[in-house]
Amino acid sequence: LDPDAERLSSIDRDIEKVLRPQAFEDFTGQFKILENLRIFVQAAKLRGESLDHVLLHGPPGLGKTTLSNIIANEMGVNIKITSGPVLDKPGDLAGLLTNLEEGDILFIDEIHRLSPLVEEYLYSAMEDFKIDIMLESGPNARSVQLSLNPFTLVGATTRSGLLTAPLRARFGINSRLEYYDAKLLTTIVLRSSSILKTPISDEGAYEIARRSRGTPRIANALLRRTRDFAQIKGDGTIDTEIAKYALNALNVDSHGLDEMDNKILVTIIDKFKGGPVGLKTIATAVGEDEGTIEEVYEPFLIQEGFLMRTSRGREVTELAYKHLGRLRPGNAQT
Ligand code: ADP
Repeated sequence: LDPDAERLSSIDRDIEKVLRPQAFEDFTGQFKILENLRIFVQAAKLRGESLDHVLLHGPPGLGKTTLSNIIANEMGVNIKITSGPVLDKPGDLAGLLTNLEEGDILFIDEIHRLSPLVEEYLYSAMEDFKIDIMLESGPNARSVQLSLNPFTLVGATTRSGLLTAPLRARFGINSRLEYYDAKLLTTIVLRSSSILKTPISDEGAYEIARRSRGTPRIANALLRRTRDFAQIKGDGTIDTEIAKYALNALNVDSHGLDEMDNKILVTIIDKFKGGPVGLKTIATAVGEDEGTIEEVYEPFLIQEGFLMRTSRGREVTELAYKHLGRLRPGNAQT
């Protein structure tokens, strides 16, 4: 149940495609972002122009790729999908850019991982829809300028803190996706089960939703695993009982926290007396990158009330002690 797309099996990927909403109206949550995007898309269409470049940031599995596909559908244009680490040389990018038709979308996932050389090359493409390409090499080398069709770059990143200022400045639309609450995830689980033709009760859907770490990708993955339990151990219907049984058998945390979430909380409690402790110190102690903790793990732990950010560092809450079955020092009576 790793939220990391890179580790999804190919079957999971296929199912993920089937479950992916195709239009604004199928997309649940992220209301503010959707409201704005609808307006920008409508306005661009009215003017007959390409949409402004869009930067989508936020933790994995919250819908960045899905939204990019929806934008392409709603604009009625093609989408080409690539990712930062794949674009090795400026030539790789040039090949993609020169093949875009007017208004098309170029989606670059993990855009924070572009090489500096490729990134710089992207600037003039984004700004003036022009690129310089080198003809020949050695003493005959010369560069010619090529005009591109106006296009929209949609960049996605889990680590917006790693984007350079010049790149960030070239996006006209900049949206941060938030974790979903259990209610929204319930809606998503119900929608997915209807697509998968799996009978499910509202309470069963809620049980899966509240243990999905605020993440649609995890909710869909848990739904599929729970469906197996329902078929083998029950009559095929997912009700609360089957959902609880399956999620416990799958070792899913009662609050949906993953291994690293729990590790962070346990470390702060056991090694730093519950905090406050600095982010850098936590990162070293759990062996995870500081920025990833700040942008991927911490927002969820704070939203769910397990962690607090204070002027002196991070501190776990009463809820974290309770969740981990630990006693708070100096508070042994409560
Ligand atoms: P990201 O690109 O942010 O890692 P994806 O767009 O790939 O995330 O979303 C992962 C899966 O979660 C998709 O298969 C999609 O079906 C589902 N999903 C994401 N957001 C939503 C949403 N708002 N409503 C319904 N399903 C969603």
